[in-house]
Amino acid sequence: MLDIAENIVLAIRDVVKKNNEIALHTPYFFGKEKEYLIHCIDTSVVSYIGQYVTNFEKMLQEYTGAKYAIATVNGTTALHLSLLGAGISANQEVLMPSFTFVATANAVHYCGAIPHFVDIEKAYLCVCPVKLAEYLNEIAIVKNDGYAYNKKTDRIISALLIMHTFGKPAALPELKDICNKYNIILIEDAAQSLGSFDNNIHTGNCGLVSSLSFNGNKIITTGGGGAVLTNNDEIAQYIRHISTTAKVPRPNRFIHDDIGYNYRMPNVNAAIGCAQMENFDKILELKGLLADKYKERFSCLTDVEFMSDKPNTKSNYWLNTIVLRSSSNVLHDVIRDINQSGVQVRPAWDPMHTLLTYSHCPRSNLANTEEMFNRVINIPSSAHLLS
Ligand SMILES: *Cc1c(COP(=O)(O)O)cnc(C)c1O
Repeated sequence: MLDIAENIVLAIRDVVKKNNEIALHTPYFFGKEKEYLIHCIDTSVVSYIGQYVTNFEKMLQEYTGAKYAIATVNGTTALHLSLLGAGISANQEVLMPSFTFVATANAVHYCGAIPHFVDIEKAYLCVCPVKLAEYLNEIAIVKNDGYAYNKKTDRIISALLIMHTFGKPAALPELKDICNKYNIILIEDAAQSLGSFDNNIHTGNCGLVSSLSFNGNKIITTGGGGAVLTNNDEIAQYIRHISTTAKVPRPNRFIHDDIGYNYRMPNVNAAIGCAQMENFDKILELKGLLADKYKERFSCLTDVEFMSDKPNTKSNYWLNTIVLRSSSNVLHDVIRDINQSGVQVRPAWDPMHTLLTYSHCPRSNLANTEEMFNRVINIPSSAHLLS
């Protein structure tokens, strides 16, 4: 085993105080999940329309401060609906990080739009406002019709789709300013950042529309699930409509007035979500404690750094992240060694522009993305690890 891998394993085991296998991230059920699930079965209300869906949406609205939350079958569909709600259409370009999970790029593709990859800042792994401003200054022009165009492709750049990587909020105020300057819509993929705030504003509550995920590996789970957040009345109504097959409310008839989707969250999934939300503060508290302990323990290591918090933000510590001090080609060997010791860690996603399906897409210089892909390791982060 490489020395550096051994030191990382020692540090993690010191903090977690377990000698057996430690998983990267598993859910924590300690509330009324079972009770609510049994209630669904006993009442036979398991599918789309049900009290838990309504309650879960209310809880999300209250927690995030968004006027509307629309629960969906997963985060990818929530993202797809967000883009449709924002009016993203075929042959437009959507600026987005290459450093993200593939669902972000896929959702753009589902709309017939073209992902246009931009770089991240190294400190927090989210879209870099400085590089973005420089890049747009070089390639974008706002024409008389009010839209920003890519000077090279002559296509409309309709949106900036940002992601709050591993739970650390992106530079929202700066990015919003850039969007305003170019008349570009801001959309947030907040799949990883339920519970993360920038200047007391919840992530996902700054863009025109945003999406959350409640997959099994996220900070809370509904099995599979997602939600759209927005403060816009018209967009909320439209998304609700197309997410339920665009059915017109006429008794005894099946009339659909638009291309619709079957994307709504079933009641059984929302039942788990309600129970998880009831304990969300406790989950966040435990994750904060774990992050504090990691931070202290990793400060003794010289070859790796624990990723810190950005000033004026609050992280949900979804996935704790360590960074190799120098760009190196040992990352994947280090990850292999740590995994072989029974501590589950993982690298970041292969950047989108390196995937065959998205390699042809327009992109800026992605030096930080490429460097950080070779330096970043996610370490075990489940809320229950200290219990
Ligand atoms: C988890 C995730 C999604 C959505 O994932 P689902 O598995 O469809 O719920 C989208 N974007 C990012 C960045 C994610 O991490």
